[in-house]
Amino acid sequence: MNRPQRIQDLIGLLNRLYPPVLAEDWDNVGMQVGDPQAAVECVLIALDPSEHALQKAREIGAQALVTHHPLIFKPLKRLSPDDTTGRTVWSAVNGQVAIICAHTNLDTAPAGLNHWLADRLGLEGTLPLIARSGDFLKLVVFVPGDHIEAVSEALFSAGAGQVGAYDRCSFRTHGVGTFRPGTGTNPFSGTIGQTELAEEIRLETILPKRQLRKCLEKMHLAHPYEEVAYDLIPLDNQMPDAGLGRIGKLPNPVAVDQFAAKVKALLDCSHLRLVGSGKKEIRKVAVCGGSGASLVTAACQQGADLLVTGDVKYHEARIAEELGIALIDAGHFATERLMIEGVAKNLRCAAQNKHWQIEFVVYTEETDPFRII
Ligand SMILES: [Zn+2]
Repeated sequence: MNRPQRIQDLIGLLNRLYPPVLAEDWDNVGMQVGDPQAAVECVLIALDPSEHALQKAREIGAQALVTHHPLIFKPLKRLSPDDTTGRTVWSAVNGQVAIICAHTNLDTAPAGLNHWLADRLGLEGTLPLIARSGDFLKLVVFVPGDHIEAVSEALFSAGAGQVGAYDRCSFRTHGVGTFRPGTGTNPFSGTIGQTELAEEIRLETILPKRQLRKCLEKMHLAHPYEEVAYDLIPLDNQMPDAGLGRIGKLPNPVAVDQFAAKVKALLDCSHLRLVGSGKKEIRKVAVCGGSGASLVTAACQQGADLLVTGDVKYHEARIAEELGIALIDAGHFATERLMIEGVAKNLRCAAQNKHWQIEFVVYTEETDPFRII
């Protein structure tokens, strides 16, 4: 009989679908609360880690709640049921429900939120509006053989070694290092003043630039040498399928007003806000679920006639007006809730391929916090 799946297996699936390396550095993605070793048979998927969603997870006997928005953004100074986050953490621990989120990594992933949003609105030939590129480094470090696993683990746990859907990627070459400890040193091996030959492994791995400080800190902690020899090499590797927003074309040109009515129906929202003339013909459309109005200039530069997003502020609307690009604000909720079905579908498919018996349930009771009167 197969062993039961654990929370860490579910995290592994999510990480392969929406690699954490794609997340913005201010974000906090992955497990927010939970025991990686706990068994999992049922998972609820929701947009927000609300108390209602958690209650629903407990009602249906789910061992995990997968959400888009993180529960914990800033480090918690105390944990008490007196505040909203504390209460949710408290209740998750008591109910033994893990909370895991895929946020900006889901927005950016090749088959993620913005891909689904573009697809829902009927865009063809879509590409990321701002592709991920040029933010990787190669780290080469020379390690004595008996510390190679510890140093590798330290680097992987800090975010190094992710290549697409693969993690823990590295390369090892055996060789001989030389050094002469100077006066006042405390060498791990060798004698002060004498040239030493040491069997070492050249460990190479890749890391995102924004993880550099964390990787170096962890590497230094795990490495036995007083002075660690390492190289940092800038890489020009691209991730053409991943990035912020999407841009594509409608099959036929259409007037903004006509398309706006379609967007409203397709995203099932009660209202939307428009910037620009409703009569303008559009063909090239950019999208960004959630709060993407800051992409208006990028969308314009790439020739988009319209940007569909949420959370548009007054000054962003003015910028769009001045640039001559139409803008549709369909709301944060309406442009993101399609992630629930998307994530459920991806997870069901990935679990099925592994012959895992996990049920994925979509949470259908969330509503837009805004009411229009
Ligand atoms: Zn959001």
